[in-house]
Amino acid sequence: SGDAIDATAAACQAVLRDVFGYAQFRGLQRDVVTHVAAGGDALVLMPTGGGKSLCYQIPAIVRQRAGYGTTLVVSPLIALMHDQVGALREAGVPAATLDSSLSTEEAAAVEQRLMRGELTLLYAAPERIVTPRFLARLQALHAAGRLALLAIDEAHCVSQWGHDFRPEYRELAILPERFAGVPRIALTATADALTRADIAEHLRLQQARTFVASFDRPNIRYTIVEKRDSLRQLQRFLQREHGGPGAHDSGIVYCQSRRKVEEVAARLAAAGWRALPYHAGLDAATRRRHQDRFLREEGLIMVATVAFGMGIDKPDVRFVAHLDLPKNIEAYVQETGRAGRDGEPANAWMAYGLQDVVQQRRLIDESPAGEAFKRILRGKLDALLALAESTNCRRQQWLAYFGEASAPCGNCDNCLQPPQTWDATEAARKLLSCIYRLQQSGAAFGAGHVIDVLRGQATDKVRAHGHERLSTWAIGRELDEATWRRVLRQLVARGAVQVAGEFHTLHLTPAARPILRGEQPLHLRVATEGRRAERAPRQA
Ligand code: ADP
Ligand code: ZN
Repeated sequence: SGDAIDATAAACQAVLRDVFGYAQFRGLQRDVVTHVAAGGDALVLMPTGGGKSLCYQIPAIVRQRAGYGTTLVVSPLIALMHDQVGALREAGVPAATLDSSLSTEEAAAVEQRLMRGELTLLYAAPERIVTPRFLARLQALHAAGRLALLAIDEAHCVSQWGHDFRPEYRELAILPERFAGVPRIALTATADALTRADIAEHLRLQQARTFVASFDRPNIRYTIVEKRDSLRQLQRFLQREHGGPGAHDSGIVYCQSRRKVEEVAARLAAAGWRALPYHAGLDAATRRRHQDRFLREEGLIMVATVAFGMGIDKPDVRFVAHLDLPKNIEAYVQETGRAGRDGEPANAWMAYGLQDVVQQRRLIDESPAGEAFKRILRGKLDALLALAESTNCRRQQWLAYFGEASAPCGNCDNCLQPPQTWDATEAARKLLSCIYRLQQSGAAFGAGHVIDVLRGQATDKVRAHGHERLSTWAIGRELDEATWRRVLRQLVARGAVQVAGEFHTLHLTPAARPILRGEQPLHLRVATEGRRAERAPRQA
């Protein structure tokens, strides 16, 4: 009833103040803790740093005081569990962990405290929980009405489509089965629709209330430029936005490969920037030293693979730059999200080109995954490519990908300098027809040759194949080569053209058909726009 809910809300508020010392709930916390403390099921999507822990810690305390017993928290990260338990104990809350770092005796002592009802929260690794022995103990607690709440942190680990799938999380499906009446809360910072559905299915949370916090980071300015000479473009961006060499802004530059990390770090350093490399191929001592310097010193640039960043808590990272395309929007948002944690203005800058598309598609094609899985990976890549090619608000587009509606943001490249576009539908049809004719002639060709045929360039190769007799010979004289490459990139991004094999030959896919028939318009940004924007001086 309303009175009961009010009383629960008041109890939660009191715990927030008296146990944790905070004056107010943040964002959705109040609604979540009230719902869960009152015995409801919840699926909570909140960005990193949003305050997920309190969402189950407060209901745990409130329910323990009301006589419901212990809350079981499932978490995959031992270090994080220990941090949390340490903080809870300091606040006077009886809590413990059960994980592989404990000796047999220590684990037995924890289980005894659990069975005696001395713990308000027990943090446990998933593989610990699903052992028959431990399940039997939980069963006994449950039978006595002393299992207050099941909290599953990092719940996206159940999803095999996600970036952090853990098979042992799958087995947690046994919890709602065995402990049907016990309220459940699942929490994650990964919020795409597919992951959400997976969590709901595997943890039986279809009927649960879903709480979705805003994932927006209004202080981050998103910019995606067309890749030409990416290292020089990066330096110009740094110069313009963050001061030249010797400046005091810290930032991260992400590259795809270890070799590129080394090369970019060396070249930035040679140009006077204070840049350090970081990748999994460096020895542990070097990695630690570079990471420590990045955290401590001002104005360091970490040039890194995605191996760098997890669990790095540096609030004043002023920029995150991508010299290569990440694999999907989740990764892009997670990586760029390391900028501006302090709420001050920060930049997310990326250079993107045809080679990135080809590379990412190839990584998927050549992965040992099954066909259904590859299809999902391709879908996720396509969403990121659409974001990169977009002429509309970047933020609005990636928020929409996570199911969040918003207005144009006024703080991304496309909002600040609306790109001029031209209708490239006809050009796209010419390019696709040309590939089609060449395919019909019996062999496959790369971008250079296709564009030569389109533009009527009578090269030796053209003559050798007799391609000046094709019906599509010289039908694209009106555009220069760079523009044709841009049209091609967009077609590859849309999956209408596939770039295959050692010689990067072009092939049509079924997705080319509606474009060939003129049913799918194609709009491209006018190229000079990007160049001009790059030369423009920094605006106050
Ligand atoms: P998440 O798990 O979502 O990444 P945490 O639960 O670790 O986030 O919380 C992030 C930080 O915010 C912690 O330092 C936490 O103490 C703090 N915090 C959470 N909720 C509040 C609040 N209502 N008031 C003040 N600080 C809060
Ligand atoms: Zn915008």
